[in-house]
Amino acid sequence: MLLKSNENQLKSILKSDNVLTSLEERYCYAQDSTNTRKKSPLPEAVVFVETIEDVQKVLKLANRCKIPVVSRGAGTNMVGACTPTKGGIILNFSKMNKILDFNPENMTVRVQPGVILGDLKKFVEDRGLFYPPDPSNMRVSTVGGSIAQSSGGPMSFKYGTTKDYVLNLTVVLADGTLMKLGAGTIKDAVGYHLNQLIIGSEGTLAVVVEAELKLIPKPEASRVIMAYFDTMEAAVDGVNKILADKIFPATIDFMDNNSITTVEKFYPCNLNTDKEAMLLIMIDGFESSMDDQEGRVYKAMQEAGASDIVIAITEEEKDSVWTARRASFAATAKLAPDVVSDDIIVPRDKLAKMVKECKNICDKYSLPVCMVGHVGDGNIHPQIALNLEDDVQFKNYIKAKSEMYELAVSLGGTISAEHGVGAEKISYIEDTVDKEAINYMRSIKKVFDPNNILNPGKIFKI
Ligand SMILES: Cc1cc2nc3c(=O)[nH]c(=O)nc-3n(C[C@H](O)[C@H](O)[C@H](O)COP(=O)(O)OP(=O)(O)OC[C@H]3O[C@@H](n4cnc5c(N)ncnc54)[C@H](O)[C@@H]3O)c2cc1C
Repeated sequence: MLLKSNENQLKSILKSDNVLTSLEERYCYAQDSTNTRKKSPLPEAVVFVETIEDVQKVLKLANRCKIPVVSRGAGTNMVGACTPTKGGIILNFSKMNKILDFNPENMTVRVQPGVILGDLKKFVEDRGLFYPPDPSNMRVSTVGGSIAQSSGGPMSFKYGTTKDYVLNLTVVLADGTLMKLGAGTIKDAVGYHLNQLIIGSEGTLAVVVEAELKLIPKPEASRVIMAYFDTMEAAVDGVNKILADKIFPATIDFMDNNSITTVEKFYPCNLNTDKEAMLLIMIDGFESSMDDQEGRVYKAMQEAGASDIVIAITEEEKDSVWTARRASFAATAKLAPDVVSDDIIVPRDKLAKMVKECKNICDKYSLPVCMVGHVGDGNIHPQIALNLEDDVQFKNYIKAKSEMYELAVSLGGTISAEHGVGAEKISYIEDTVDKEAINYMRSIKKVFDPNNILNPGKIFKI
């Protein structure tokens, strides 16, 4: 618990206007983008850190007094990963938002954690390079948050997720010690890769204060192909045919019929609402390869029984296709007071079954669901529209959620591909991850954070 004396200490080690303690200010930080019925306790202070030393001083104090500390980027995670469970201090990184160094020859960029992902992507793309991780909300989410969640996005199929682009991390440990991880080189085979342990650890092991990221050359050209199918099985067959023809698209996303019709209802953009599924395929590479890749994808789509195959070539055409896909969450949100977007993944050969069964489960509990996702990865985002304050709907939602997770695990998948566990999925991890592995995770947590001050109550029960 934060005592008055701790508040005064915070104000003496940081600029006093970087310490917020009023009720109104703290209230905003008790929530993130998670749609949930749970009410998190308010943090007792919100501090804006400006330097690595600021972070060290706050953690030293917090560890000595056993005060919980929750790092916060833009608060856009969807699993309650940055809401407090026991009050304490919120570390706000919005003032540590600088691009510190750009090295085009080594193709690396060194950044502070508060840099907005979309700004970083634009910065490197303007200079001919490319940082692929692309969570849909990258216009607001931060590098620190995306490292802590190992964020992915539509391009993960070809380019991987955040974990594939972090070379070095500078972190502050729970007791305020500074630790540098990684060798500053593209390859590094010396010792344990502790930086990979930090990626995806949701701020529970250490606080990221700097990151050096790997870049790749920016693909010269891209096109988007949209194709409609009568069944999800046919759509997956189309994907297999593309891959069998040795084409490796940057993105293979899908929308189910409910998503298509809901988007068309609220944001009309000429989608074909008669079909069961739509694939959105983005090919990229050299300009000279575009016609060939497009032709092969077109043929694969036809052979799998697609109709209405649309090719988007200009930026305007591509934008309108992606806007339809991105509008699905906002459109679903118009169906009911709340919408919960989930995140599950199965091997690709089980995707059609998973989509069909998720729909059956939601139908059984009378919950409207719009499904979108990344077919290439086998990653599905069921977006369930409901009123969380309605007891019957809420109980049905909890049952549906458990059944979907059980199904994903039984099909060889897992309960999160890119959104993480946070507080929302904590009670499901035991049924998902090997028990011995969870025990090892607990031991690792104890080594990094013996007083359990870093984002307590997240990922697994201690
Ligand atoms: C509309 C929408 C669409 C989305 N689409 C995608 C998608 O396509 N793919 C995807 O992967 N995710 C997606 N997400 C989830 C979200 O984008 C990611 O989880 C995001 O990267 C979180 O970034 P943030 O800055 O908002 O972090 P926050 O939500 O603020 O924090 C996330 C986690 O990071 C920790 N953290 C933050 N900064 C630090 C730090 N400096 N050091 C240590 N820990 C830290 C926090 O404690 C918390 O555990 C989406 C979310 C929304 C709302």
